[in-house]
Amino acid sequence: MGSTMNFENSKNPSIPHLAFPAQSGEELSPRYVSVVILFFLFLNLLAAPLHARVRIGLFQKELPVQLDLSSDGGLRILDGVSGVELAVKDAVHLERRDGRVAMSRRWFGFETFDSVRVEPARPGAPIRVQTPQGGFRVVSGALFIEARTRELLAVNELDEEAYVAGVTAAEIPAAWPEDALRAQAILVRTYLERNRQRHARDGYDLCDLTHCQVLGSQRPDERISSAVQATRGLILVMGGRPIEALFHSTCGGATSSNEDVWSNQPPRSYLRGRPDRIEGDPFCRISPFFRWHVAIPRHELDGLARAWGLSGPVRDVTVGAVDGAGRVKTVMLSDGTRRMEVGGERFFLEWGRRRGWQELKSRSFEIQLEADQVVIDGRGSGHGVGLCQYGAKAQASQGRNATDILMFYFPGTTIREISSRAAVPK
Ligand SMILES: [Zn+2]
Ligand SMILES: [Zn+2]
Repeated sequence: MGSTMNFENSKNPSIPHLAFPAQSGEELSPRYVSVVILFFLFLNLLAAPLHARVRIGLFQKELPVQLDLSSDGGLRILDGVSGVELAVKDAVHLERRDGRVAMSRRWFGFETFDSVRVEPARPGAPIRVQTPQGGFRVVSGALFIEARTRELLAVNELDEEAYVAGVTAAEIPAAWPEDALRAQAILVRTYLERNRQRHARDGYDLCDLTHCQVLGSQRPDERISSAVQATRGLILVMGGRPIEALFHSTCGGATSSNEDVWSNQPPRSYLRGRPDRIEGDPFCRISPFFRWHVAIPRHELDGLARAWGLSGPVRDVTVGAVDGAGRVKTVMLSDGTRRMEVGGERFFLEWGRRRGWQELKSRSFEIQLEADQVVIDGRGSGHGVGLCQYGAKAQASQGRNATDILMFYFPGTTIREISSRAAVPK
């Protein structure tokens, strides 16, 4: 398989070989390998308590007022404050009553608690969670439920690596090459390490939306689990800190520097725009979004132009400034009497909010008016900063490993184990 080919590393001695010890151990004696494995297992045991678990606020799009939970093998329900076991049963219905969490009990009607903790009675079994709004999740680990002003807050407390697997599965197709999955898993874990405090004031670590990282149902897939396992504890760092681990679907030929896409950000040395190729075709040429074409009726652009501040029908529209990768920095619009300039960021956001995000797939495009329609020819999908996922897919199928891929998109960074961060002052 391509993932075991390390030849790219030999061209670049600065790339650390520590990333995937299993690969470089192929020619060593079995006894030596098992001693090394035992040593690493021992290190893992030492490191485990540091950041073993993560707390995710679930259903943040629409907080529920009721929750139905069940698990094959039953649920243990505990008082969230005292830890006293309240019941063991197959399923439980919880709802918000009088500012508390109410649970129905056979002989007492409803009993209410400050908070409730629910664990699978059979260790490791997933819990199914259903909300009246149609929300449904399968989660691993435990749930901690408390009453908020009007709703219930459900926090999923799970193993950090299970979280990484859940997010990775939501971000990348499991059928993609192993090293693309590994690179993605390292980015997901890096994001977690960098943003652990993001929702500290809300009572959990991260939310389950795009604001943090989307966490869907946690149904472990064998290929995803294996990629997560192979990269266990590994993150991308620079100067001892986890980096801003940005990625997108398809750059369309070249990535952009972060400050060109988000004007309020300071430039980051590892987020530089670069052509998505070494020689020949761009890696992400394989993407269905490498080039795209959209046409909409002219009067619909007029509606959008009003949101940008133009009053009459649009008579002229052209791309103004672009960055080195061709991403639009300004768009020029005119209604015949007034000419205005809209920032690329604003143009893109307003378009997406009003018309959905599937139409204008990226900020890399040409736009022109025809008789009765507006025609857009675009490149790529997503913001275009950091790792290009289709590019990573192509690189992995060409035999480049996860380290090669990450060093290509995040130059100057290092892959490191989370545990060793403990020794590095922030
Ligand atoms: Zn969030
Ligand atoms: Zn690309």
